[in-house]
Amino acid sequence: MNESIEARIDRLQKGGIVDMHFDLPMDLYEKRHSRDVLVTEFLSEFEAGHISVLGAAIYIEDRYLPQNGLRVALDQIARLYAETGTSERFAICKNFQEIRAARETGKIAFLITMEGVEPLSTDLNQLRVFYELGVRSIGLTHARTNAAGHGGIFAANGSSTEGLTAFGRAVVQECEALGVIIDLAHINPAGFEETISLTTKPPIVSHTNVRRYYDIERNISDEQIKMIGERRGVIGVNSILVSPRQEESTLDHYVDHIVHIANLIGIDGVGIGFDFFEFIYRQWPESRQKDLAAKFTTPHFISDLTNHSHARNLTRKFIERGLSDVDIEKILRGNWLRIFKELL
Ligand SMILES: [Zn+2]
Repeated sequence: MNESIEARIDRLQKGGIVDMHFDLPMDLYEKRHSRDVLVTEFLSEFEAGHISVLGAAIYIEDRYLPQNGLRVALDQIARLYAETGTSERFAICKNFQEIRAARETGKIAFLITMEGVEPLSTDLNQLRVFYELGVRSIGLTHARTNAAGHGGIFAANGSSTEGLTAFGRAVVQECEALGVIIDLAHINPAGFEETISLTTKPPIVSHTNVRRYYDIERNISDEQIKMIGERRGVIGVNSILVSPRQEESTLDHYVDHIVHIANLIGIDGVGIGFDFFEFIYRQWPESRQKDLAAKFTTPHFISDLTNHSHARNLTRKFIERGLSDVDIEKILRGNWLRIFKELL
């Protein structure tokens, strides 16, 4: 076969790309006084990158807590419904059949996810309400401690050594009962292990990097990668914590994270969780950027992988690195679709 590299990229991209972590609802909420934000600011990038399923993450910033966590979460969901309702190109999906139907009709499917359970306070009934609104994946914590557990910190050690709280354990059990995918991104190592021991279904880590290349407890160790692999889960690789050094934050090194996971647990255990964040970061004043660096870390963006239109660059890099079509398609979509089919 004498197929050009561009034709091969086209063919691989055409089946669509699944990205399990995108901070879209937060941005739509901040722009709640504008209309058609999704169509005017995002659609062309999604189309250029052949994005077919996006994990749209509800996340509540510190400044809204504790009083307004619930309200801001509901407003984020409201904006997502309002904005997706303006175009035939989008669908909010609650199960695998809806995802499949969206893909067959060329729509971009959103799966609503929650990053940190602050919106629930300590009320399991609110988990049921968010489920009814469409939330289908939940990570108990972001970096901070909350009513469910403790986040992994942006350092090689020093996170809380405690696991989940009683509420955290109840949330995990209720998620499994309802059919909400449990996401182990951000949780501290003790909470990670406890969640694995409490559950039976395949776990996911929607967006993370490997500690081998960026050794912080927010990222995932070889031992943790193997725990996910043993349970047939999937790990989405993050584009913003690829290296502590800017000069090593490259597309090649992003692929190194994917290859490392595949070497440990097989190609079926790795997917995409880009966590594109530059578009939010550049809207911030310098004082907030400094605040982020002080609290967590300075994000190092990969210049040719900063938004969804760049997905094609990744596919090209996979080809250059010698990955087979079958493996590329598993990473780009197949592995996440298997999880949706099994769990939703
Ligand atoms: Zn995150």
